[in-house]
Amino acid sequence: MPEIPGSTINANCKKCDADTPHTVLEVLEGGKRIGKVRCDKCRDEHPFRRPKAAAARPKSKAVQPASRPRRPSKSRTHGDIPAEEAWRQVEAMVQAAAKQPYEMGRTYDKGEVIEHPQFGVGVVLNVLSPTKVEVLFPDARRKLVCGQQPVH
Ligand SMILES: [Zn+2]
Repeated sequence: MPEIPGSTINANCKKCDADTPHTVLEVLEGGKRIGKVRCDKCRDEHPFRRPKAAAARPKSKAVQPASRPRRPSKSRTHGDIPAEEAWRQVEAMVQAAAKQPYEMGRTYDKGEVIEHPQFGVGVVLNVLSPTKVEVLFPDARRKLVCGQQPVH
């Protein structure tokens, strides 16, 4: 599953001294590894570091933190990465992947490669909600409806 510039991931930020959401700015080896990321909180740009919590927190603690309220999906900026540039970084991997025809009734996971009848081949960048995904196409990022039966 390729990593895609413009997608959001959890990473460790030294400035914040915490694990925070980061925007992927650059991927390496055609999407195999994450390169540079930017902290969504302090906007510091740095190489990707895995979230500390994932490794440090013992799994035996069964108590899960109460699910945090989802932040309203205000129009998310993608930093300064044009869609064309993001596409270029992952194109080889996306083209080599198995493509699923886009269907409104399906749900998709991040990194899944789809084929849209109008927009062509794209890769799922972010799952915004159970019924909406953001997909990177060669020319633009688009929000597509999913997980819904088409209305006749
Ligand atoms: Zn930060």
